[in-house]
Amino acid sequence: MAYSVLSPSCMRAVCVAAVLLCPLMAHGDDAQARRLREVGAMARFVPDEASRRLRAMEWEMATAPAARRTDFLYYYSTAERGIGDLTHALTLADQLVTYGRRNHDDVALAKGLIGRANTLYLREELAASHATAFEAERVAMTTNDVPTKVLATIAAGQSFQEEGNYPAALAKLHAAVDMARHVKDDAAPLASALHTLVQLYLNTGDFDKGWEAQREALAVARRMASPGHIATALGDEYALAVEQKAFERARRALFEELALERSIGARQMGATTLVNLSDCYLKEGRFHEAQTYAAQALEAALDARSNNDVATARVNLGQALLGQGQLDEGKRQFEAGLATYEKQGDKPELLAVLREYGHALEHAGDYKGAVDAYNRERKLSSEIFAEQRQKALMELQQKYEAEKKQRRIDALRQENRATKAELDNRRLQQRIWWLLAIVFALASAAIGLLYRKVRRANAELEQRNLQLKQQSTLDPLTLLYNRRHFQEFMGRTGSERRTGGDGTVGAMFLLDVDRFKDINDTLGHEAGDAVLRTVAHNLRHVLRETDMIVRWGGEEFLVFVPAVARDGLDEVALRILHGISSHLVEYRNGCVQVSVSVGFAPFPLSRGGTALSWEQVVNFADMALYQAKARGRNCACGVLGFPAAATATLDAIERDLEEAWRQGWVDLAVVPGDVEYAMPVQSPA
Ligand code: GH3
Ligand code: MG
Ligand code: MG
Repeated sequence: MAYSVLSPSCMRAVCVAAVLLCPLMAHGDDAQARRLREVGAMARFVPDEASRRLRAMEWEMATAPAARRTDFLYYYSTAERGIGDLTHALTLADQLVTYGRRNHDDVALAKGLIGRANTLYLREELAASHATAFEAERVAMTTNDVPTKVLATIAAGQSFQEEGNYPAALAKLHAAVDMARHVKDDAAPLASALHTLVQLYLNTGDFDKGWEAQREALAVARRMASPGHIATALGDEYALAVEQKAFERARRALFEELALERSIGARQMGATTLVNLSDCYLKEGRFHEAQTYAAQALEAALDARSNNDVATARVNLGQALLGQGQLDEGKRQFEAGLATYEKQGDKPELLAVLREYGHALEHAGDYKGAVDAYNRERKLSSEIFAEQRQKALMELQQKYEAEKKQRRIDALRQENRATKAELDNRRLQQRIWWLLAIVFALASAAIGLLYRKVRRANAELEQRNLQLKQQSTLDPLTLLYNRRHFQEFMGRTGSERRTGGDGTVGAMFLLDVDRFKDINDTLGHEAGDAVLRTVAHNLRHVLRETDMIVRWGGEEFLVFVPAVARDGLDEVALRILHGISSHLVEYRNGCVQVSVSVGFAPFPLSRGGTALSWEQVVNFADMALYQAKARGRNCACGVLGFPAAATATLDAIERDLEEAWRQGWVDLAVVPGDVEYAMPVQSPA
């Protein structure tokens, strides 16, 4: 029959106990530690005896050092699991978890979690068991305790294997083997890791590799001289051999295994080995031997209170009896075995057994019984199928829900990310705008300031230019045009002046203040300046806007009249004379009456058809002024022209104007003023 040699629970039990020895080694040689180490080694292979002894040690362990108490709880949990007291096993594992968490002792926590995972597995709470195993591995890997790391990695590898994730399981178990090779002074972790690896290869049908690992495991176990570990490796040898129908070799391994188990009183393991022996004979069709060992197995299983083995032994016994034609007794044993499976609720096992039952009955010629078994199998099969479908549906639904939830979380996360990005973007944009606005404002302010500064500078410059221009063209005392300006003006326009078609003519009047030196001498230079300012003011008053008044130098002024009636020059001269002499010049608390003498000439002035230059005209006016001074001052003399008949040269005329007038070479006009003023008329009181 198809009963596997090592049930999953056995696989687990072997691994869990395998590493038990090593922590104890570290505790030195004290008697208590040694005793605990011995019991620990038993916990896996002889759990009933170990459980009894550990229970007896409970009181003394209450006061033991923390590390030792950790080991104690771990072994105790292992032993309790071995004898099937899963509730107590879980309680002990949980005590370890609580202790580890409370004291931040990760080795204790990892061991507690491993114990918990293995117990949950036996309670068929697979999901919880796997999650706990993975957590145990995570915790163990943070510690420096290599045996615990190996143990936890094995548990994780087994969990992956149970989930059907063989690549992950393989990676974990290889890692466990690698780590175990580094454990000094204790080969148990390596033996355990290799044993688990063999189990995986059995599962995947990778027998060559399975053999390789088994050979190493057996060699390691023999070096350790540990009957339990050797027995475990032999069990693996049987499993591999029987899979490849090497029954002879399989049986040899089982007999050796059985002898070892008996030597250490491993009753449960022994019962399983006997079951396997009967199974091996059944496979060969050797029903008599099968019956013998099945009977022994039943007895041993009952003795070890191993329900699973009792059921299998009964089924094997029934099959052996049926094979030998003992229908009633065979059916009775078969049914008893089936009942146990039914009680345990192990439906897959029950299904396999029912199939075997049907075949056996058919071989035995009980066709009605075979059909019966077949119908039961069908019914159970559809039950299992329905359950599995239900389970699959539920799992699918859970998976769908989980995925939906994850999708929602992802979507939310994405949305959050997008919103954040948008916010960041908007904030960045705002910042850029603000920055631009600030830069713009600053630039505007700077430009405004610069603009105002430039404007002010320009205005100042204009003002300065104006001042400069005025300074260069105006006389500072009288604010009349200066001589240089007049020269420039005449240089630009002098040649354009012609006699107007309306009979008007231009004219030059040269003035000199009479007896000015006396004013300076008697009243002071300042009074003289005041006189000059007043003369300038009065001249502006009596002359037209268009007439140009120039301070010619010292107390001399030149007036250029651009347009005057040809016979109106005398009148202008008189206006000048009166305009000056009729006003008193106020100075401090006194007054001065001044007069001027004037010489004048029309401009342009020609002689013999040739126009004189403006400088020559001014020269004639100057000569005429001299004539005015000579005639008693406060009067005007003008050179009006040159009679055509006159033959004298201009030089001769210029040399002596008085004589030229007498000779009739020149037309001279004399305009008398009223009186000559050049003295203060009123003195300060
Ligand atoms: P006259 O012309 O009537 O023959 O007599 P005068 O006293 O005016 O004679 P003169 O031409 O010799 O004197 C001119 C004086 O004018 C000499 C000089 O000191 C003075 N003078 C020249 N420029 C200025 C000036 O800007 N301010 C003052 N206060 N005096 C000046
Ligand atoms: Mg003078
Ligand atoms: Mg003078």
